[in-house]
Amino acid sequence: MTKKRVFSGIRPTGEFHLGNYFGALRTWVDLVENYECIYSVVDYHAITTPFDPKEMPLTIFNSMASLLAIGLSPENCSLMLQSDVPEHTELAWVLSCIAPLGQMERMTQFKEKSQQSPENINLGLLSYPALMASDIIVYRAQAVPVGDDQVQHLELTRDLTRKFNNQYGEFFPDPEPILSKTPRLMGLDGKSKMSKSLGNHISLFEQPDVLQKKVLTAVTDENRKRRSDPGNPDICNIFALHNIFSSAEEVETVNRECRTAGIGCVDCKKMLLTHVEPFIAPFRDRYTELQNKPAEVHEAFQEGAKRCRPIARETVDGVKQRMGLGSHAVSQQSVTAS
Ligand code: SF4
Repeated sequence: MTKKRVFSGIRPTGEFHLGNYFGALRTWVDLVENYECIYSVVDYHAITTPFDPKEMPLTIFNSMASLLAIGLSPENCSLMLQSDVPEHTELAWVLSCIAPLGQMERMTQFKEKSQQSPENINLGLLSYPALMASDIIVYRAQAVPVGDDQVQHLELTRDLTRKFNNQYGEFFPDPEPILSKTPRLMGLDGKSKMSKSLGNHISLFEQPDVLQKKVLTAVTDENRKRRSDPGNPDICNIFALHNIFSSAEEVETVNRECRTAGIGCVDCKKMLLTHVEPFIAPFRDRYTELQNKPAEVHEAFQEGAKRCRPIARETVDGVKQRMGLGSHAVSQQSVTAS
């Protein structure tokens, strides 16, 4: 039986963190067994907000190495760098001409990012959901793993594919969401989503001493001022991490002992570290190995781009043909007319 095709992309932010892993990347790894997966480091998306061109190559490389380090490889999926397959941007232009301006202006991320950087509201920031839609449908992907903050983008993609199909004839499948089961991971400040730019993250490849320092200084239940005060695990980020890393029995113990001040926060954090460090260690080892073998990283992504380009070209040619564009359509017209 032919496997369904899945596409997903991630912005290059350097090495990824636990929030990236549990929010998206773990699902990517899980899906390779039952789907034909295409995964991309979407570098064109990274230029909608300010960036340093001198730092960009290393940032992109570290993101590429991160994907290999968590277990993705040319043997189980296709890995590619978005800008290596120019059909992504070619199709994005077509979709920009279909996408209603009002709908693009209502996209939550556009509103958030333009509020965060009012001095940098560029056209790309407004139209990047069309590029996201293109990333998916240029491979005519049938399914897309999404976190709760990306549901709106997938909805837009589905709207655009339906619109295209209605106007120019059935061509694109309707991509289905595969929802991530893990809730959004909060950062170590306990206030915002885990994010590298906010500096509240735990890298997937954190060195043991840095990991220990970050966890031991993380914010807990701020109402718990003294060891003898009972705590509330429901508002503690360390408890949220226990829910991911620790056994059900340990989670239950922490839940009970925290509420009765039977356990202190330092001991609770040390208990968590005994699970996080062995979880991270194999990722860190592989990531370190890949840092010393850059050719392996580049070859994996070149191989992926080589596989992806013909699929994307075929799609864009099909789009142009249906829209009556390009020299092929024009020459066909001449043949008919003569
Ligand atoms: Fe959080 Fe653990 Fe401290 Fe309770 S004991 S507040 S769960 S760190």
